[in-house]
Amino acid sequence: MKCEQFMDRFLALDNEEAMGFFMRRHLRSCVRCRRETGALTAAMDELLGFPGRFNEADVADRVMARIGAVEYTYDRRVSLSNWIGVGLVILVSMFLLPFSDSLIWLRGFFGGYIDLPYGIVMGLLVSIYMTVFAATNMDLLKTRVRARHLEKS
Ligand SMILES: [Zn+2]
Repeated sequence: MKCEQFMDRFLALDNEEAMGFFMRRHLRSCVRCRRETGALTAAMDELLGFPGRFNEADVADRVMARIGAVEYTYDRRVSLSNWIGVGLVILVSMFLLPFSDSLIWLRGFFGGYIDLPYGIVMGLLVSIYMTVFAATNMDLLKTRVRARHLEKS
């Protein structure tokens, strides 16, 4: 029996229903599942307030209270140096692209008509970059703006 299958069956067990032979055998041999089921059982006992008994209505209110109390924050940050690196790449490419063979070829093909779309694309790129940077680093920008505001006053 695989761990995933075991956990599915474990979670499907009804109130204090006994585990089957294969489940018990897997639990004996698998440290990970033993740890996980132990933690689940301990959490359930804690929610019930007393071990060994199960009252679903009792648990639902406590679980909902716990969930309400949890402050979930999505915290996956891109470091500031990565932002600066990408910004520099965009900046350097803006200055170097007019000298690239591709753009020179396009300019020969379309004439001066390529300059406007090129400017629009680069402007869009910079706008998107700055928008995403501002949206994901709102806290940093807020503290900077506040600090500057306090300096002036
Ligand atoms: Zn396992």
